Amino acid sequence: MEEYINEIRKILQLPKIEDCQNVLCVQPHPDDGDISSGATIAKLTSLGKKVTYLFVTDGSAGINGKSRSKTAKIRKNEEINAAKMLGVRDLIWLDHPDAGEYSVSNLKSEIIEVVRKLKPDLIMTVDPFLPYEFHPDHISTGIATAQAALFYNNSIVKAVDKDYDPYALRAIAFFFTAFPNQFVCVDDQWETKFQAIFEHKSQINPETFKLYRKYFDIKGKFYGEKIGCKYAEGFKVLIPEMFHAFAENLWI
Ligand SMILES: [Zn+2]
Repeated sequence: MEEYINEIRKILQLPKIEDCQNVLCVQPHPDDGDISSGATIAKLTSLGKKVTYLFVTDGSAGINGKSRSKTAKIRKNEEINAAKMLGVRDLIWLDHPDAGEYSVSNLKSEIIEVVRKLKPDLIMTVDPFLPYEFHPDHISTGIATAQAALFYNNSIVKAVDKDYDPYALRAIAFFFTAFPNQFVCVDDQWETKFQAIFEHKSQINPETFKLYRKYFDIKGKFYGEKIGCKYAEGFKVLIPEMFHAFAENLWI
């Protein structure tokens, strides 16, 4: 099995995250990219790569007892500050209701529009196949983004506007994944990640922050050991060609 998977890996030549130049990070809620991948994002921007954040929902279900509109405003401000710490200044909001109703098919079309406009060579998003993940926004975002990666150049699935030039998306990197196949060394960005997470004060009280810190330190060290670093973040990297009728994705 191992040899068979290694042979397939060789022909696929999955790109390295750090070799990509223009990254679109599609997130269910304000905070998901910072918590899952903040150190990698900081590394990419410090290397001069372009990183854009795209938020599917407004985060408006995130504070019990506060109205959706007040919560959305607070969370957007927190996210703007957190993103700034990681070197990200371009934020796009689709403003779907957090934990509310919206269609995955329409979301796919909205993401395709952004992809056609920005032409990222790497899309980062949440892994919709995280075992025991039940948050509907995470599952919907991961699936809609992967579908967008499959159909972004297809003018039948989604009409192409007259100025669109087809281009090649290189890869998708799933975060919050149980099946990482690529690890990014983030020794120099590890503290920055937590500074960014700390900006989400409405979501993470000091006690929870301490727990997060311990959890991510353990995980970051475990992933770091795999590539000879102190800390690393892990991703499941696939190419769009693997998003249809491809049996080996779980093991790649
Ligand atoms: Zn989330």
